[in-house]
Formats: sequence, structure tokens, C-alpha cells
Amino acid sequence: MSEVLDPVKESLDVNPVIYKMEQYDHEQVVFCQDEATGLKAIIAIHNTTLGPALGGTRMWMYDNEMQALNDVLRLSRGMTFKASISGLNLGGGKAVIIGDSYTQKSEALFRRFGKFVNSLGGKYITAEDVGISPKEMEFVSMETKHVSGLPESMGGSGDPSPVTAYGVYMGMKAAAKRQWGTDSLSGKKVLVQGVGHVGQTLVDYLSKENAQIILCDINQDRVNEMAAKYGATVVDNEDVFSADMDIYAPCALGATLNNDSIPQLKAEIVAGAANNQLADENVHGKMLQERGILYAPDFLINAGGLINVYREVAGISREKAMEQAENIYNTTLGIFETASAENITTHEAAMEIAKRRIEAVAKLKTSL
Ligand code: NAD
Repeated sequence: MSEVLDPVKESLDVNPVIYKMEQYDHEQVVFCQDEATGLKAIIAIHNTTLGPALGGTRMWMYDNEMQALNDVLRLSRGMTFKASISGLNLGGGKAVIIGDSYTQKSEALFRRFGKFVNSLGGKYITAEDVGISPKEMEFVSMETKHVSGLPESMGGSGDPSPVTAYGVYMGMKAAAKRQWGTDSLSGKKVLVQGVGHVGQTLVDYLSKENAQIILCDINQDRVNEMAAKYGATVVDNEDVFSADMDIYAPCALGATLNNDSIPQLKAEIVAGAANNQLADENVHGKMLQERGILYAPDFLINAGGLINVYREVAGISREKAMEQAENIYNTTLGIFETASAENITTHEAAMEIAKRRIEAVAKLKTSL
């Protein structure tokens, strides 16, 4: 059998960046470097068919530049589909700053980064992400108006997590409706993994509906405090997947749905806030389906945060954003129907619908 060659490694004629851009179908990738401030950043604009590319800036100590490039390409692509499936007029983008967020931050570095964002003229709108705080976004905003998600005290849309939690709750109820014929969660055993910003608010909604709540978090103080407040049970990290539950709500880390966890999983529904829950979207969506576990696609039901930020771009109220988050219920139900009609996984159905909207809008633009 002949060996499959990696064209990037095998040919000096192939530019690895352009090769990757083609594979993911990116519009533009901007490399930013400034010796004086130590800034090294990459801004990736995946698709602007629906509107300006919006996505946060992450500061991370990557092992090498290719790792940073892969991360920004993957994340920006994800933003395109999240915006599209949520009906927002936004494209997908993301930025990464390569560096140690504990030791390498300075006003000058973030202002320099802001100048790079500004040079794109609004094609890319940035926001906070891992490793960045509101203080640093304030520095960025000194050099560009294309910043979103600032605290309310700075004229922004503030903490997105309550809207995210509401959307996750709506997606979970839609999954219950599909799986059990009723969207009531009363008496259902729901395991929430991670009681941080989103998890805490989600637990509050579940408690008001008299669900039986099971909690897990690596922060023992927080999980014990939440358990006492809501009369919840606590499970250890290693017992999460084998615990007796109806719904698994991952609200901590990604890739928890994998070859090890899925065979153990007792739940009939997976619906949570974490990004990239499927370790491999081509394998694990199918594995869940084969086990009869209904998966509410993460990038659809956790879009409340993006919806909240969008109100800054579109000039809409918090109430309207909550209405849009509520609509995640209907969109999720529609996705379950499409998946079943087309005999594909729910993740594939969500991707299909997101792509179709982008294609339809692209056609509309060229026909005018
Ligand atoms: P957070 O940092 O406030 O909370 C995460 C919680 O998970 C913490 O309490 C942490 O102790 C816990 N945790 C970490 N590792 C764990 C582990 N191995 N097992 C159990 N618990 C663990 O984050 P958040 O803002 O609540 O976001 C939760 C998830 O949802 C993240 O994956 C995030 O990317 C995603 N998300 C958040 C938003 C938002 O609006 N905040 C929007 C979309 C997606």
C-alpha cells in the first residue's frame, strides 16, 4: 500500500499557511509582530458573508507558532458556524496572542494589538477570551472601536454567562421534549460538570424546575457550597460518567465525549455549555447516536454569550438578547428533526443548517 504523503512536509512549493487556509476555507489571516512591545499575534478571519468576523482574543503560551496558528484557524471557523446557526449577522473570527498571560502583559502590547485590529477597518471585531481580562480590553479599546463584550461600566454588554446559561437551559428543554415528549425537567437527574459562571446559573434554573441536581467540580469549596444551597448531590470527577443520571451537562472542559466516556455514559441526553464537547466530531457524534443518547450541539446551545455580545453590534436590548437565547429551544428542536429526517447526527445537522444559511446569503449578495 502506498504511503499517504503530507503535501506540506513533502513539498517546498506549498506554503503551509495558505495550505491550511484552503483546508479550512479561511478568507484572511493576519500575522502581527512588534519587537518593541514583544507582541506576536495572529488574527484569523474565517468568513464574513453574514457580517463582520467577531470572536475573542486568547493569550496563551503555545509551544510553537504552528500550534497557535492551528488554534486560531479552528476557533475562528467555529465562530462562523455558531453565528450562522444562531441567526446572527456576524462572521467568524478569532485572534491569539502568543505569550505568557502572567508575565508578558503590558499596556503597550495591548494597545499595539488594538492598532492591528483597527487596521482591519471593522472586518474583525475582538472581545475577551482565555488569558485576557477587561482591563486589557480597555487598552485595546484605546486604539480601536472594534471591541465588544466590555463590562457594562465601560459601555459594553457585560458578563455573557447568564445569557449563555439561559440558552443552554433552553437547548436542554428542547432535548427533553424530543427524547421524552415533554420539556419538563421536574424530577430528572441532571449532572452539571463545572459550576463556574455558566454552571451556577444553569443550576439555578434547574432547581426552580425541581430537577434532581448532581454536581461535580474540581473546586471542592465551590461545589460543596452549591450543593448545600441547592440540596444537590456531589460526585467525584472520576465517577462522572458512570453516575446515575438522565442528562449530562458538561460546563467545564471540552472533549469530555470520547472513546472512554461514551461507553460508560448513563445519560439519555447531553446538553451543556462547554465548547468542543465531542473529542472528534466525525466519530463521537455518531457514537452517541448509536447509544441512543441525544446530543444537543454545543455550538448551538451555548451561543447565548455571542448573542449577548451581538447586541452591541446590532444595538439591541438585553431583553431582545434573552428572546434570541430563548429561540435556541426552537432551533434545537428543528435540528433534531433534520438529523432524524436526513439520518445524520445532530452535530452534522447543525453544521448543515449553518452552512446552508451562509450559502443562501452569499447567493443573495451576488444576485443583487
Ligand atoms: P468558568 O471558568 O467560570 O467555570 C468553569 C468551572 O469548571 C470552574 O468552576 C472550574 O473549577 C470547573 N472545572 C475545571 N476543570 C474541571 C474538571 N476537570 N472537572 C470538573 N470541573 C472542572 O467558565 P464558564 O464561563 O462557566 O464556562 C464554562 C464552559 O462553557 C467553558 O468551557 C466555556 O468555554 C464555555 N462557554 C462559556 C460561555 C460564557 O458565556 N461564559 C459561552 C460559551 C461557552
